[in-house]
Amino acid sequence: MTHSTRARTIRRIRIRLIRAAGLLIVIAATSTLGYQLLASSSSSSTAAAQTEVVPGGHRGLRIERRLHSEHPGPLGEADGVVPDGVTVFDDDYPAVANLDPALLGALRQAAEDAAGDGVEFYVDSGWRSPEYQEQLLVEAISKYGSEEEAARWVATPDTSAHVSGDAVDIGPSDATAWLSEHGAEYGLCQIYGNEPWHYELRPEAIAHGCPPTYADPTHDPRVQQ
Ligand SMILES: [Zn+2]
Repeated sequence: MTHSTRARTIRRIRIRLIRAAGLLIVIAATSTLGYQLLASSSSSSTAAAQTEVVPGGHRGLRIERRLHSEHPGPLGEADGVVPDGVTVFDDDYPAVANLDPALLGALRQAAEDAAGDGVEFYVDSGWRSPEYQEQLLVEAISKYGSEEEAARWVATPDTSAHVSGDAVDIGPSDATAWLSEHGAEYGLCQIYGNEPWHYELRPEAIAHGCPPTYADPTHDPRVQQ
């Protein structure tokens, strides 16, 4: 990705965030109407009931969080945020449940075999909503001080394999060490040299081994725009 293309991408995201924030303020200002619309548009009575119990329900919580996005805070589990101690078997978390079924199946098979070696796989991050990915990117730009450096670590919502459910970040280090040695047998491959925790499914690796890693995401053709 060229500098100018990346800068355009970041600008586009910023504009989208600003637009989203503006929209959310409008929604919040007309919250009573908004909640009524949410309730009346819910097709199931269960969803409508939940909306009444917690004003705005899930979407209301999201709106509140997004309104405070000038002070970046965690989004919710529904966006793919993962608390400590979640394993690849925890279907209750969207970060796990929304992963590509083939990737999840391979992970669980590997995790069962790793358990025999006394190693447990924890999911540090899995599927993410586009909103969560946007927040991570904005935070990375702030943390690394430039869009160029941030792009080495965090993809955009349009290009992230986490948003499509095709990537998982595994921990702790004994789990990634186990995967580094045995992952290819399950089609599980490290993709980026600078991210030993980030795994994706490469079914052909079972027969041919994992492909060489990219130094970092900026070298990945899928991430180029
Ligand atoms: Zn990752």
